[in-house]
Amino acid sequence: MTAQTYGVRNEPMSRHTSLHVGGPADSFVRVASEDDLRGAVAVTRQHELPIFVLGGGTNLLVADRGIRGVVIENAWSEATVDGETVTAASGAPTAHVAAVAARAGLLGLEWMATVPGTVGGAVHGNAGAFGTETADVILDAELMDLNGDAWTASRADLGYAYRTSALQGTPVIVVRARFHGTQGDRDTAVRRIKDMANERAAKQPLAQPNTGSIFRNPPGDFAGRLIEAAGLKGHRLGGAMVSEKHANFIVNAADATAAQIRDLMRLCQREVRERFGVDLVPEVELVGQWE
Ligand SMILES: Cc1cc2nc3c(=O)[nH]c(=O)nc-3n(C[C@H](O)[C@H](O)[C@H](O)COP(=O)(O)OP(=O)(O)OC[C@H]3O[C@@H](n4cnc5c(N)ncnc54)[C@H](O)[C@@H]3O)c2cc1C
Repeated sequence: MTAQTYGVRNEPMSRHTSLHVGGPADSFVRVASEDDLRGAVAVTRQHELPIFVLGGGTNLLVADRGIRGVVIENAWSEATVDGETVTAASGAPTAHVAAVAARAGLLGLEWMATVPGTVGGAVHGNAGAFGTETADVILDAELMDLNGDAWTASRADLGYAYRTSALQGTPVIVVRARFHGTQGDRDTAVRRIKDMANERAAKQPLAQPNTGSIFRNPPGDFAGRLIEAAGLKGHRLGGAMVSEKHANFIVNAADATAAQIRDLMRLCQREVRERFGVDLVPEVELVGQWE
């Protein structure tokens, strides 16, 4: 295997992101087991190519020029329950973790059913919903560096704060994680999941491609409220639009480019800063070759 034949060449990232936006990855590999994940990292390193680990692609704005190097799509999905602990592979959808926990009668992980993406993405970004975040339910995570060396990080080691962790901006890969629930009953867990899903569907523009909240909420306020108060709800820039349903969502209304979405984000930031003196910090991660 050579760098030239490794994976699929020039794979459009728009096929792998919830926004349906993003140019080509030089090479694209999909892994479905721990061995595959470790092997893909090892081969990429041998060729000295940059690595980007992709989970569900639900918190990403990938540049129109795409991503240089190798994108490893993590589709290794496993989750098991032992007592009150759920151990999950990093490629497992968070919704799968919630379902496995609910089936075992564990409570406290229902919110995970409503957050798209994988365990790896949630551990990396401290995903959360309905008043609970990853930091509240994680016990520890097995991590790996690009040389394949693995270690276990405790919750404290992961440096969690609102939608951030010590993993961001590092090349460290999440291999698996353990979460804790509390013993309850399956019917309660299933009912809570349904209620949360209904609440989401009523408030969020789930029918249009999006990436969840585009900005973090500033302390004591809501990004959506500020963007709406700045008169930008429904504002369009090319195919990118501030959602009519929830102003902290930017949707791909019609073949938007990544540049249009980024420019609309900048417009929201500028208007909110000028009117209210608040700096909106992106929650979505901008990745790839922008200039
Ligand atoms: C409709 C919708 C609703 C959403 N609602 C919420 C919400 O309520 N709360 C919330 O927090 N988020 C929400 N999001 C955003 C998103 O679901 C979360 O940020 C999610 O955790 C991202 O996971 P992912 O697997 O898709 O990560 P990706 O988008 O694929 O990647 C995000 C980052 O994580 C890194 N990453 C992924 N896997 C690994 C790994 N194994 N090891 C190391 N790094 C890794 C990537 O390299 C990248 O830097 C929503 C998104 C959508 C589309």
